[in-house]
Amino acid sequence: MHSKVIIIGSGPSGHTAAIYAARANLEPVLFEGMMAGGVAPGGQLTTTTEVENFPGFPSGITGSELTDKFREQSERFGTQIITETITRVDLSSRPFKLWREDADGDSDEPDTCDSLIVATGATAKRLNIAGEDKYWQRGMSACAVCDGAAPLFRNKPLVVIGGGDSACEEATFLTKYASHVYIAVRRDAFRASNIMAKRAMNHPKITVLWNTHVIEAKGDGKVLTHVVLQDAKTKETRNLDVSGLFYAIGHTPNTAFLNGQLPTDETGYLLVKPGTSLTDVKGVFAAGDVHDKRYRQAITAAGSGCMAALDAEKYLEELEAEAQEKASKL
Ligand code: FAD
Ligand code: NAP
Repeated sequence: MHSKVIIIGSGPSGHTAAIYAARANLEPVLFEGMMAGGVAPGGQLTTTTEVENFPGFPSGITGSELTDKFREQSERFGTQIITETITRVDLSSRPFKLWREDADGDSDEPDTCDSLIVATGATAKRLNIAGEDKYWQRGMSACAVCDGAAPLFRNKPLVVIGGGDSACEEATFLTKYASHVYIAVRRDAFRASNIMAKRAMNHPKITVLWNTHVIEAKGDGKVLTHVVLQDAKTKETRNLDVSGLFYAIGHTPNTAFLNGQLPTDETGYLLVKPGTSLTDVKGVFAAGDVHDKRYRQAITAAGSGCMAALDAEKYLEELEAEAQEKASKL
């Protein structure tokens, strides 16, 4: 199958790109993935409960409802949505080639496209400690900014795991709601920038637990009530009463399937020309968390999906103008 625009990814960035591309009559095809990167079609928002900061929903909306609405709006304007994961691409020649997970053999026919929008998101790293399956979203989260204001965490002690800027920023953010915030750092130093680390360390409601691993999440069967800490040096363990545990140990951008064909930073995030969605390969655009390690919010992802669709539209217009000019010279 050949398309003018293929979008890979089904979070807010992919669907916003689809809505714009479809309304521009580009007849986009969107591959929404089949648990790609461990996330359901719809993206990271399907893993959360209430979304309270997406404009247009003053009473909040569940992550799943919001992603259903994105999908519905994409389809309304004619986007073709395919529930498959793209496992391989060839961006070395035009049209670009893409292979689906169930047709990835050398003899399998690829899908092709004139322009490609990569909107495959990022997956928050988790530790998979004991108790995580039971208490995930029942006191455990990988997004303090998203979930920190929930009643479950108000005026309660919380723990953040990680030692980077995210951990410091999220711990500082959580002090607005929590009675106290602990940061469990696995070694004796932060990775975070000085300014962020100092802000956290000097905060009266934050205690840093150095050389500390969190090895188990425990609760009352319904919600998290405490965690088990282990001293990284002595291996001694102890309980810490907390109502919330937040992972801030980094994200993995879903770029492995590109097999190095687009430049990334040292952590795998796609690089774009600043202020645009343009990658190094003409006709290939990036949108959402796959290139944004700073903001990582649904609204910023949606905004960059719009940018990618507008950039793709402009690129296709130029391509068409070039083709017409060539034809007129014949
Ligand atoms: P994602 O949402 O990551 O979606 C990418 C999609 O692409 C996924 O479905 C994935 O399966 C699919 N995909 C990946 N690879 C492929 C492939 N090779 N082929 C096909 N499909 C593929 N933000 C807010 O603004 N407000 C909130 O309240 C909020 N709450 C959050 C709660 C949690 C628990 C988490 C983890 C995040 C939360 N966020 C929130 C952040 C927000 O979800 C993300 O910033 C946003 O979803 C990023 O959108 P995206 O389109 O870039 O990608
Ligand atoms: P990061 O810089 O990669 O830091 C991850 C932290 O998690 C590190 O302290 C790491 O420990 C720890 N960690 C990793 N795996 C762990 C494990 N299994 N158990 C316990 N701890 C573990 O990630 P980030 O903090 O998300 O930041 C990502 C990027 O975004 C950075 O470039 C950062 O500067 C940027 N950022 C900037 C801002 C800002 O400027 N406002 C805010 C947030 C993020 P080690 O140090 O021991 O490896």
